[in-house]
Amino acid sequence: MQSSAEDRGGDLARKPRRRGVPGRPSLLAVYVPTVVALHLVLTLAGLVRTPFQLNDLLTFAALLACGAACIEASRRLGMPAGVARDLLSAWWLPVALLLPPVYALLIPIPIQILLQFRVRRTLLYRRVLVTAALGLAGACASVVFHLAVPHPLDGDPTWVVDGYPGIPVAVACAALFTVLNTAIVAVAAHAANPESRWRDVLWNRESLLLDVVELCVGVLVAITSALSPFLLLLTLPPVVLLQRSLMHQQLQAAARTDAKTGLLNAAAWQREADTELARAQRSHDPLALLLIDIDHFKRVNDTHGHLVGDQVLIGVASTLCSQLRDYDVVGRFGGEEFVVLLPGADTVEACRVAERLRGRVRRLAVPAEEGTVGVTISVGVSLFRMHGEDLIELLASADLALYRAKESGRDRVCLPAVEGPKPTDN
Ligand code: GH3
Ligand code: MG
Ligand code: MG
Repeated sequence: MQSSAEDRGGDLARKPRRRGVPGRPSLLAVYVPTVVALHLVLTLAGLVRTPFQLNDLLTFAALLACGAACIEASRRLGMPAGVARDLLSAWWLPVALLLPPVYALLIPIPIQILLQFRVRRTLLYRRVLVTAALGLAGACASVVFHLAVPHPLDGDPTWVVDGYPGIPVAVACAALFTVLNTAIVAVAAHAANPESRWRDVLWNRESLLLDVVELCVGVLVAITSALSPFLLLLTLPPVVLLQRSLMHQQLQAAARTDAKTGLLNAAAWQREADTELARAQRSHDPLALLLIDIDHFKRVNDTHGHLVGDQVLIGVASTLCSQLRDYDVVGRFGGEEFVVLLPGADTVEACRVAERLRGRVRRLAVPAEEGTVGVTISVGVSLFRMHGEDLIELLASADLALYRAKESGRDRVCLPAVEGPKPTDN
């Protein structure tokens, strides 16, 4: 759940605005310090007011040590940007449930320092915000759980042995932790990029599944360590193993994706396109390829700066995705060049889709310091069998068509040769 926060905070990392978009830095500049200050004040108040007990301190140290062991394990695996789920909530959910709230405020601090210096350096303000979000969410979950189960570690842990209502309340508090943590980071992510949809900065099906896995593991570790802190030794190996497989999966996904736009990167696109091409060969279905290039993109960078240029790339990418079917294969081929494979599309259908994309991108208005920025695209279309028998030939033909589109004035769709549907004019 630290992880989900990082996941959703991804936008924050990509947009350190020096000459950013109006309105956004000021909102972040108020929100982030407020959250961090609240975390600091509550931590200091907790340190002053909490009567520290040896049993609590030992449990805290054991859970912290397990968290550190997991971090070391993930360090050896390598953890590039885009790999965000690390299952560390397996250790701080028990802290929130079993120990007084001040420990939940404290534990993200050493863990995030370790992550920053041992695993991956990220923007400091992002790391600090994630720490504060985890601390505050953990403390809220802790307060609620301690209202239902006042001394979860004292004597026989009856809340575990009896099961009810202790365990359902533990699950509900773990869910509360996830929701609060997600919400705190999502507000910052949305402030950094107001065009982003709330749905994207909050949850998708995959992240929901991972949240559930983290919640279950966290509650199970809490139950185990309430029975005996020595049982933590038994939970460490399976959690490390689960963490490894989770990270391996994310590493694979990150290796396929273009970090800026979220589209397939060139290599992954090529692999998927090869599969589709083989299918079209077997089934004798038509198939088309679109090569899309933003017109005069250098001017956007030169006039408005690279950050606005990046926003335009993200805007074009999401426009393309929103206009295509699930089984169309969309990738970012290079700087401001995109490529789309349209299974089942013949010449007429391919030109119709290309025209629709051109029209939609034309309507895009990306906020910049001086109003909004709009761009146009040129599209080269090539058809399987008509212009090429394999991906290399299709790409070469689409490139030729794109060249024709640029030469004949840009903001248009072209085929490689003059025959077939005529190139469109504006
Ligand atoms: P044309 O209409 O002929 O395509 O002109 P153009 O200016 O779009 O093409 P050119 O190839 O001259 O410039 C492409 C620019 O794209 C240059 C490069 O700095 C910029 N670029 C490439 N990748 C990125 C990126 O990730 N972000 C930003 N902001 N700019 C990028
Ligand atoms: Mg261009
Ligand atoms: Mg180009």
